[in-house]
Amino acid sequence: MNRYYKSEELGFLLLIIELHKEQNKLLFLLDPWKTGLKDYDYFDYPINELKGKLGLDKLVITEIDNNQAIHILRQNYAISINLDITIDKSLKNILTKLKVFDYEYTGELYTCFNCEEGQLNDNQIKEIVKIAKEDLQNNLINTDKETQYYFICSKCESEVQK
Ligand SMILES: [Zn+2]
Repeated sequence: MNRYYKSEELGFLLLIIELHKEQNKLLFLLDPWKTGLKDYDYFDYPINELKGKLGLDKLVITEIDNNQAIHILRQNYAISINLDITIDKSLKNILTKLKVFDYEYTGELYTCFNCEEGQLNDNQIKEIVKIAKEDLQNNLINTDKETQYYFICSKCESEVQK
């Protein structure tokens, strides 16, 4: 069985897959708050060495189950496709092997940035898509001029107001 891990920082998400019976681990760089699938790579050293190599000593990496991991990949793929981002063939092959395309993604495109589960309303999602498209068009993705935003669900919103 593969083992799955995810790390979170505001602004990006790393999904790591320890492939069953393989030396290499798969690393996905994701942006579930804007453009979805960003990059992927393989590495062959222990996961705890990754933080040092990335210069992110404080990064928290937790193990997640297969369903959570595939859900994350499905969601990020859906985000990228929605923005007309081209997914290269080798990445598509990897996702196919991971069974990402076995079911169509029917979840929300973007979820609450705070609790990660709460639903955003249609206007919030439209706003994110609009900004993401503008940033893509203006080549701002992965630059320090990338538009920053933070959208939270109504439940988190009411807790902020307490
Ligand atoms: Zn929330």
